[in-house]
Amino acid sequence: MNMITNHPPTAELQAIDAAHHMHPFTAGAELAQKGARIIKSAKGLTLTDTEGHQILDAMAGLWCVNIGYGWDSIADVAARQMKELPYYNTFFQTSHVPVIALSQKLAEMAPGDLNHVFYASGGSDANDTNVRLVRHYWAAKGKPEKKVIISRENAYHGSTMAGASLGGMQPMHAQGGLPIADIVHIGQPNWYAEGGEMTPEEFGLARARELEAKIAELGEDKVAAFIAEPIQGAGGVIIPPATYWPEIQRICDAHEILLIADEVICGFGRTGKMFGSETYDIRPHIMTVAKGLSSGYAPIGASIVCDEVANTVAEAGDFNHGYTYSGHPVSCAVALENLRILEEEQMVENVASVTGPYLKEKWEQLADHPLIGEAQIQGFMASVAMTPDKAARAPFAADKGTVGLICRGHCFDNNLIMRHVGDRMIIAPPLLMTRADVDSLMDRAVKALDLTL
Ligand code: PLP
Repeated sequence: MNMITNHPPTAELQAIDAAHHMHPFTAGAELAQKGARIIKSAKGLTLTDTEGHQILDAMAGLWCVNIGYGWDSIADVAARQMKELPYYNTFFQTSHVPVIALSQKLAEMAPGDLNHVFYASGGSDANDTNVRLVRHYWAAKGKPEKKVIISRENAYHGSTMAGASLGGMQPMHAQGGLPIADIVHIGQPNWYAEGGEMTPEEFGLARARELEAKIAELGEDKVAAFIAEPIQGAGGVIIPPATYWPEIQRICDAHEILLIADEVICGFGRTGKMFGSETYDIRPHIMTVAKGLSSGYAPIGASIVCDEVANTVAEAGDFNHGYTYSGHPVSCAVALENLRILEEEQMVENVASVTGPYLKEKWEQLADHPLIGEAQIQGFMASVAMTPDKAARAPFAADKGTVGLICRGHCFDNNLIMRHVGDRMIIAPPLLMTRADVDSLMDRAVKALDLTL
């Protein structure tokens, strides 16, 4: 029997899944008791599970299905590419048409002189590339001691050794011997949780200036780069105060530090411009992209690199780094078709000026809900912080995380996928959402919050 075309009933699938499939970021024993919810198909914003439930996916999978599910033309492009050239590598002076076409397209789309693309299979390994690339760059400039990379607490940059080390997630650092050497962290611009008596503007400046203090402590000649997401995503959709990014940019410019913008979530329209760097007027030397690059239809990630870094590395001989699937032809063809759809359907405009303002109005009204201390939104990424005491911006200290789990359960019961990060509930829906979709999402979200009270 081909289990994909003719599968057994849900309970049996769940048992096989628990017996043989190790899930990422999941307690296996607990899953074995509950059984996974098994998704069978999807169209637009809606998932269908093996029990026939229709579920509104307000997380676009894992923040990645930017154009929504079910575009036939992408399947056609993938099938055509698989028939013509399913695989060839880009090592050792070979190339192929899809990788050339995608590289040209990304160089056109990316801001400034980010004209050179190094491919990976996703965001984590693209960030591994960045670690090696910036250190190799400074070595090629005659400064091999410039190798420390500064990141932020509660950042997420992936799950590989380097990606998780760049990330500032304590539960990840607690497993597997992290972080690796020469990666250090400064505070995050999370005013709601950590700003105390300061105004958001004061706090944004204070947190940015931690970068300058860290550079002074380590010595400018030791620091290679600063990496950050324009908006922290997996950390809970933490939208920085307006003062934060201009100050970070000033500090990087003043101290000869490369700036890496991790656009894995923010890239390709999510913040209302094509890249989060454009929303915040950031001028990175390298952007990490993945997720929305193919809308999850095929695995692909990349580092988009500025002229100075790419040309210096090109002059320095072999860059001894690369992945078997760097520039995979099927993924590149899929990414190109995805970008065509994103542009032709004007999805970034939908986020910026059509559905986006309506979602913002509705989302910000959640701040009036008795359980909500803060409602933040930029484009199609948004969060609310749940609190037992609005005035004090207090977390649910004793059972931190539990309230989020409870709320997520109520969302699930209402056929809505929202994610929780501690006490925060977050959304990052596909970019083709309409006003009617917003109404449906908000109805279900408010029901889940009411039940959580
Ligand atoms: N960087 C950011 C900002 C992310 O949000 C993620 C994934 O969520 C990654 C990197 C890792 O990407 P991947 O899971 O494709 O390896």
